[in-house]
Amino acid sequence: MGFRIVPMDTALADEVRTTLRAPGYGHPAWREVPTEAAPCRVCLDAIEPGREALIAFTYDPFREREDVPLPGPVFVHERRCEPYAEPGVYPARLGRSGLLLNCYGDGRRLVLAHRVAHADAEPALDELLARPDVDYIHVRSATAGCYLCTALPD
Ligand SMILES: [Zn+2]
Repeated sequence: MGFRIVPMDTALADEVRTTLRAPGYGHPAWREVPTEAAPCRVCLDAIEPGREALIAFTYDPFREREDVPLPGPVFVHERRCEPYAEPGVYPARLGRSGLLLNCYGDGRRLVLAHRVAHADAEPALDELLARPDVDYIHVRSATAGCYLCTALPD
C-alpha cells in the first residue's frame, strides 16, 4: 500500500481566479506578487517571488468530506497551472520547513498529529495511511500551520 497526494480541485481554483471570492464564504480573495516563495495548492509547486502572482483566499480543506469546517488561508497561482499528480511521490518544494501530518478517521476524528521533516514525508505517509484507524491525512506546514494538501491511501 502506498499513498497519493490530492491537490485542490482545479475547477474550484478556476472559480476563485475568476470571481476573486472565497468559495463557500464569499470573502474577498486578493492578488499579489509574493516577496517570498509561496506554495500553490493546485500544482503544489512554488509561486516564484517577484515573478509570478498569487491569489490568496479562505479555504476549508474538509469541504465536501466532513460537516465541520476548518477554514484557513491558502494560495494558488493566478495563472492556470497543472494539478499535481504523482502517485507515491511527495512534492519536492512543498513544506520544506517541516510538515504536520494530521491523521483523520471517518467523521473528522483526529487520530494523531505527527510532525516530520520534508525529507521523511514519504515513509511517514506510507506508514500512517497503513493504520486501520486513519482514513486520510491533511498535510499542513509545521511552521505556518496552513493547509497544504491531502494524502489518501493508494
Ligand atoms: Zn500552481
